[in-house]
Amino acid sequence: MSGRSLTTNAIPGDCFGTFKLPDEVAFVASRGKGSRVITTEGRTLIDFVLGSGPMVIGHAHPRVVAAVQEQATRGTSFYAMNDVAPRLAARIVDLVPCAEAVKFVGDGAEATFYSLRLARAFTGRELVLKFEGAYHGHHDYSLHGLKPARGVNYPVAQPDSAGIPLAVSETVLIAPYNNLDTTAQLVEPVAGRLAAIIVEPVQRSLMPREGFLAGLRALCDRTGALLVFDEVVTGFRLALGGAQEAFGVTPDLCALGKVIGGGLPLAAVAGRRDVLELTVPDRAGDGRSVYLSGTLNGNAIAAAAGLATLDVLVEEEGPRRLIEIGGKLARGFAECARKLDVPLQMIGPPAFSEPVFGEGDVCDYRSYAATNRTAARLFGIELIKRGAFVHPASKMYVSTVHGDDEIEIACRAAFEAMRVIRDDGLLT
Ligand code: PMP
Repeated sequence: MSGRSLTTNAIPGDCFGTFKLPDEVAFVASRGKGSRVITTEGRTLIDFVLGSGPMVIGHAHPRVVAAVQEQATRGTSFYAMNDVAPRLAARIVDLVPCAEAVKFVGDGAEATFYSLRLARAFTGRELVLKFEGAYHGHHDYSLHGLKPARGVNYPVAQPDSAGIPLAVSETVLIAPYNNLDTTAQLVEPVAGRLAAIIVEPVQRSLMPREGFLAGLRALCDRTGALLVFDEVVTGFRLALGGAQEAFGVTPDLCALGKVIGGGLPLAAVAGRRDVLELTVPDRAGDGRSVYLSGTLNGNAIAAAAGLATLDVLVEEEGPRRLIEIGGKLARGFAECARKLDVPLQMIGPPAFSEPVFGEGDVCDYRSYAATNRTAARLFGIELIKRGAFVHPASKMYVSTVHGDDEIEIACRAAFEAMRVIRDDGLLT
């Protein structure tokens, strides 16, 4: 069997989640090697999706493969404490500024979900504030104001999925990213009821304005809410200590995912010990005990893969390399746009920049949504046709093993792709 015939009706939508490529460029991945993905039809693509982020040192890195193989011979999952996860936890405590302690969970969504539950339990308050356009995973609290219809007023939380109880929506406030004044105004009337502000320090690919994250820190300090950084994307990538190191603002809790499992399912909540200790089983009955559990939490193979990945990132100064490589990609794309007179901006940090088409400051969800989304999507599809696997109309991840030759190929593909969308009249 080859290509698409490998898939079956048994998986509705023929996809794992919301990511589904149009038929003209759809493929089935067979193997990954370094910065490349090889399809079942034998096509090799340069990978700027990287498993949606985890494969930051490339696919099938020999150190990760060796760690996984070694651990597999010693057993996979014990439910009892194992001898790998504590080493990963210690590594996280070493690297991440807010991490006095760490609890492992299954995926990034669980990490943000538990961060919010912990914040509610710790503060004895119910409300949480998130930013418009921010993604914190699939759970009911997160899925508000991700892609709101036009004209919704702050702080009304509109659900992004059917099946979310109204009672949950009533506990969520939505504010505009990068706008500290409006956020503070929205918080003021409910300050005594606010448990947490949760923020992607770099929201999707939107960089925080100078002082925004520090302002949120001050707002939380003033109101007694906890500040939660969702570092599922930024963790170990923007800097070894994540966005909190890069921007010098320390949250109370952070959600970690993607990189810490080295491509296997693993995530964590890290942060203040006094908050995370609410999860200790059989603690004193003060009504603040937080239930946190999962069959695969701290899974030994995932922890071994994560530890090997962090070792490589530390030894090779991974984040510095990502800045170098991603910077070349972003500059290359910008140069193509200049030559073709196309209004492209590469927004976001070099490690995961995103091509958007439009002029003006792109600083929050609404200004982002006002860019030419159709052009961005079609640009992505044209890139895939030319051998660069991207998530159309989304960020482009680079790994530490993307070489100059691969960046050059991607830039050549970008030139052709931009020419096509320009000549198709999509940019007028
Ligand atoms: N937070 C952010 C910022 C993310 O980008 C994602 C996933 N893309 C999540 C949380 C959820 O992580 P997961 O898919 O592992 O549940």
